[in-house]
This record gives sequence, structure tokens and C-alpha cells, in this order.
Amino acid sequence: MRFVSTRGEAPALSFEGALLAALARDGGLFLPEAWPKFQPDAIAGLAGLDYADAAYRIMRPFLEGDPCLADLETVLEEAYGTFHHPAVAPLRQIAPNVFILELFHGPTLAFKDLAMQVVARLMNRALLRKGVHATVIGATSGDTGAAAIEAFRGLEAIDIFILHPKGRVSDVQRRQMTTATERNVHNIALEGTFDDCQGIVKALFGDGGLRDRLALTGINSINFARILAQIAYYFTSAVSLGAPYRPIAFTVPTGNFGDIFAGYAAREMGLPVARLVIATNLNDSLVRVLASGVYEPKGVIATSSPSMDIQLASNFERLLFELAGRDSSRVRSLMEELRKTGAFRLNEAESVQLRGLFTAHSIGEHETEMTIRGLAEETGVLVDPHTAVGVAAAREEGGLGPTPMVVLSTAHPAKFPEAVERATGRVPEQPERLRLRLGQNERCTFLPNDVAAVAAFIENNARVRDKSAGARGRRAGVSA
Ligand SMILES: *Cc1c(COP(=O)(O)O)cnc(C)c1O
Repeated sequence: MRFVSTRGEAPALSFEGALLAALARDGGLFLPEAWPKFQPDAIAGLAGLDYADAAYRIMRPFLEGDPCLADLETVLEEAYGTFHHPAVAPLRQIAPNVFILELFHGPTLAFKDLAMQVVARLMNRALLRKGVHATVIGATSGDTGAAAIEAFRGLEAIDIFILHPKGRVSDVQRRQMTTATERNVHNIALEGTFDDCQGIVKALFGDGGLRDRLALTGINSINFARILAQIAYYFTSAVSLGAPYRPIAFTVPTGNFGDIFAGYAAREMGLPVARLVIATNLNDSLVRVLASGVYEPKGVIATSSPSMDIQLASNFERLLFELAGRDSSRVRSLMEELRKTGAFRLNEAESVQLRGLFTAHSIGEHETEMTIRGLAEETGVLVDPHTAVGVAAAREEGGLGPTPMVVLSTAHPAKFPEAVERATGRVPEQPERLRLRLGQNERCTFLPNDVAAVAAFIENNARVRDKSAGARGRRAGVSA
């Protein structure tokens, strides 16, 4: 299968090419040239499979004909072998016909492990096959960095540099990152905000020379491989609840629109998805675009669900491409308008389609806290604030008759102990693996909010440089 850019001005790539490039050369995001279709009997055939086997069947058509396909089965087995629940992504019922899908049983206790553990291994194997190194850089407000470092630590072919805003991530989040002492892991605590970190990462990617010298690649959800791995749990959970014979609805705590876009993809692939509910905290640009047709990201508001404190949802561009009938010139003009004026307006046809696919609810801080408390009192189940935003949105959405509602539970309550204790008076129990990890020594480099200083640090520490001295040009083929 080939992967095309949403902006239509970069060459189509193989799966391996899109995996290693992350972002297309024209600034667009990769999508498969067509969605593979699953017939009802193929969906029914997922019932009872191990999670890794089910994920293999879902992901396989996207890798058909690609060198990465030979790695897929082993990679999935290894990746999901790091999970601390034999079902990997189990369902738990919290109300009549309402379930939470626990996506937090991975090594860093957030749903990002489900994709990151797979993507890191696929990348490493692809690079080893080519005999080259690559450099991952990323900015994090907490969860992405922890999941990425955990997945990439110790890999032979990749160095990882993660920037976090100094003093602005939680203690647990910082320690999850800085206690990785492998030589290929580099934590940078930046004197600045998360936006400053992201700005520096963007600037580094924008420097073509540096990008090529270091074979830079990205691991946030602009990388299609992450979305792909996330499609699997929509299928496995739906099948557990009766798909393909009955439709299932999903509510998804949303920030960058990556996770819920995977739900859209599952629907395109033939899963009977009755509804996709976007759950946001006070950062409600997606709720507003549904209501008015105008997409206008505003200033970010800090909330108790920090991994969703995002206004500019990067994966929304993928949906735009689909809403526009895959017309990349339309995507280019909307993105240009956004860049110039800070907003764009969907046309009538696009708005109607958007509202046919999704509904959306923005949940305030008080409601989030009350939801955590209420659920603990009614069911004894503790949920983290991101999951609580999802549960509250599903309640606002209301009953769907016989259609089950699955709320994605994106983080373990022990990852956000202060918020859970404030709401319930109970301190969530810390899993043993987290406790052991947090007691270890930390390693981190402090840098000023300055692109040149960060670039120099990366150039001095990336191993791709050692290699290129002896074998110039033997870097990852990320140029197309
Ligand atoms: C990243 C994250 C989200 C948001 O996911 P997107 O794919 O960015 O929409 C929600 N909850 C938690 C705990 C996360 O880490």
C-alpha cells in the first residue's frame, strides 16, 4: 500500500517510507491511498484472538508488499508482551450499557504505550535492515515523552531527544522520563513553556540541512504508524460487545485528534461505529468547529487533564482531507488560511459531513472532578481526569438505546494522584513497576530556550554523526 500526503505535493511513499519520514516533505500528513475494507465475517473472526494476533490482522493490509510486514508479527508480540494485563486492552462496565476501555496497562500507564511500543520497534528494525541510524526529536508536556522514551530506550539504531518545559511537568511524568539512563536517551529540560519546546522542535525540522544530517524523525501522532496501531483496539473492543452484528459507539478524550481519528479509520474499514463522540476539556476548538463550521484555535487553558490541553489539533488535517473528498488543494488553502488569519470556515457540505460523523462535548473542571467522585461512589472505580472527561461527555451525549457506549480510558489513575485524591479523598494505588522506577536516579540536561543551543547539543550527542564521519550518506532514507 502507498501513503499520500494531505497536501498533495510530496511523493507517495511505502509504509516504511512514511514510518521513517513521519511528516511529508510538503508539510502534510500521510494517509493510506485507500482504506482497506473488512467484511463482517473477517470482523467476526477477530473474536477470541489474543490482542497481538487481532492487531496483526487489522494492521497487515496497510503493510502489504512492504519490507516491514516481515517484522510485524514479532514486533506486536514483543510490544504487547510489555503490558501488565493479559487482555492488553480490557473492557470494564461502569453503567448499564456503558463501558470503559482500559488503555493504561502499558509500561508508562497511558494509552500512548499501545502505539509507541509498536512504532519504536518497527522503526528500529527498518533502520537496522538499511544499516543506518536516525534521530528522534520530540516535545512533550508529559505523557508522550514518557511513552516514547520507554519505547526507544536501548534501541541500537535510534537516538531520542525529548524536550520538556522545566518545572512544568508533574513529578511522576518527569521521573518516568529522566530515570532512563541508556546512552541513546537524552532528556532536555528547557527554560520555557511547552509551546517553546514545540517551537524549537518545529524549527529543527524546518532546517533542511540539520534534518538530513541527523536523519530526524518524529514520533508524535503526526506519524501515521501511531494512528494505525490505535485502530486495533476499536475493533477488539467492538467485537467483544457484539460487532459486527451490532453497532458500537465510542467516546474519546481528545487532544491532538489522533486517537479519535483511529476510530474514524476503523469505521471507514467497515467496523459498525454508531457514533464517535469527541470529549474535550476547556480547550474546545473541536466542539466549536462542529457547532459553527469555523475552526479557530484559541489560547491554551491549563486544566487537570494536561494531555488534552491542546487547541491546534494536528490530526484534524487528516479529517479535513477526508471531508474535502481527498482534495489536497482544498486542504492546502484551508491550512494557509489558518496560518494567515488564525481560522478557517468549512463549507456547507464539509460541515454536514462532519456533524454526521461526530458529536462533541466540552467538559469543565468542576464537572470533571464531580465525575471522578461520582464514579468512585457509585462503582468503586477510580478514573484519571482524562477518562473522567470522556465519561462526562458520554453522559451528556445520553443513552443510545441498545447501542453500547465505550469510553476510552486513556490514563491510569495513579498517573494523576493529586486530582484523584482531591475528588475522592482516596490515593490511587501505585503499581509496583511505577514505584520502583520513580526511586531511581535522574539524568537530564538543562538548556536555555534557544534553537541554536538545542541544535548544538543534539549535533554533539547524536550517534548518526559518528557514523556519517566514516560512511557519509549512510543515514536513514527519509528523503522520500
Ligand atoms: C495524548 C493523550 C490524550 C489525547 O489523545 P490525542 O490522540 O492527542 O487526541 C488523552 N488522554 C491522555 C492520557 C493522553 O496521554
